[in-house]
Amino acid sequence: MALPVARTFWFGPLTIPLAQLFLLTKHTLGIVNIKPIRPGHVLVVTRRQVARFNELSQDEIADLFAQGQRVSKIIERLYSADGLTLCIQDGSAAGQTVPHVHLHVIPRHIGDFANNDDIYSVLDGTGKVPLQTHIDNEQRRPRSLADMTAEAEILRREIGDWDSETVT
Ligand code: AMP
Repeated sequence: MALPVARTFWFGPLTIPLAQLFLLTKHTLGIVNIKPIRPGHVLVVTRRQVARFNELSQDEIADLFAQGQRVSKIIERLYSADGLTLCIQDGSAAGQTVPHVHLHVIPRHIGDFANNDDIYSVLDGTGKVPLQTHIDNEQRRPRSLADMTAEAEILRREIGDWDSETVT
């Protein structure tokens, strides 16, 4: 699939290259994460650049969650997950660092964190939790664009029906 190279999308104040996208609908984007806390940690993001969940229209909410479910099925299968953490940090008081509504989709495996809910401290960046198989905050380095592009290509193939008309 040929994608226009120069196209970028907003994620809060950040510009995300098309190469990082794996899903695109009228209201929603799927992007691979520059600093995943577990392999397969991706983000489902509203196309409209708004910070808070309560700013979304009914159509945007419906699509965010419909696409979130679609993505979660793919992530669970590809990463042979035992479950998923699906999470929105809604506002900086709740740990949101990018002021643009996004659903975290994180594959979970039995025993991946010493205490199951430690994932929220890692996600938030506030807690130092005993290292199991997750990548601790201080150790997380931004991934290369090549690495993220390769992951996005795999996920894009799984999604299968990228509509080039929606790349506007
Ligand atoms: P939150 O703290 O809930 O706002 O989540 C922000 C998420 O965005 C984290 O998982 C970050 O790793 C991720 N992130 C930050 N910058 C980028 C970027 N340029 N591309 C992809 N993901 C990003």
